[in-house]
Amino acid sequence: MNIILLGLPGAGKGSFAKKLSADYEMFHLSSGEILKKVIKKNTSLGKKINNYIDKGELVPDNITVNLIKKKIRQISNKNIILDGFPRSIKQAEELDEILKQFAKKIDLCIYLKVAVEELIKRISGRRICKIDGSIHNLEFNSSQGDEKCSENSGNLYIREDDKPEIVKKRIENSEKKTKLLANYYENKGILESIKTTDKPIDDSYEEIKNIFVKYS
Ligand code: AMP
Repeated sequence: MNIILLGLPGAGKGSFAKKLSADYEMFHLSSGEILKKVIKKNTSLGKKINNYIDKGELVPDNITVNLIKKKIRQISNKNIILDGFPRSIKQAEELDEILKQFAKKIDLCIYLKVAVEELIKRISGRRICKIDGSIHNLEFNSSQGDEKCSENSGNLYIREDDKPEIVKKRIENSEKKTKLLANYYENKGILESIKTTDKPIDDSYEEIKNIFVKYS
């Protein structure tokens, strides 16, 4: 079973994908994390990618799709949770093609719907642990106040592209594309939407698990 978590930046794709991958032994494939790993290598490709991400723009398809293809080849025997990919219809079509080569398909797309005002609030409180990359929110997590990871006391930092002016741009750039993608998977009969505005994370996760189990 391969699933996509769809939603605007800050909708919780990364956090829920991490939980699902741990609970159901699936591979969490995050395009943002793959791109950021390349940035860390400090190659010319990494610098090019960094330029797009820091500005809140999408990395061009030829770069992103190639990296995703390579990763899917490496993990072709695993069930996958996609987070951050696809971000356009073109990418969705490419994804279908790549998966077909491994006799796989997308079985379910869960659309995490959140009001834009709440997204901005969530992202401005989002912090990343320097040690394990875990995602924290100063509003919801116990790490509130000391800005340390609640698991390993690592320092927390703000992603460059989580800064307010960049966040606005990322949300604006994503809104139309996300709706088109939701239509794409709805037409395939595999879209499930959940509203997570003003809902505790655990309640939303219960809903996600129920949907997941229904499709398994
Ligand atoms: P994320 O961690 O998913 O929020 O992604 C962080 C940034 O990486 C995005 O703002 C984009 O600049 C870039 N990125 C991630 N996934 C994609 C994708 N599928 N296509 C193009 N750019 C992407």
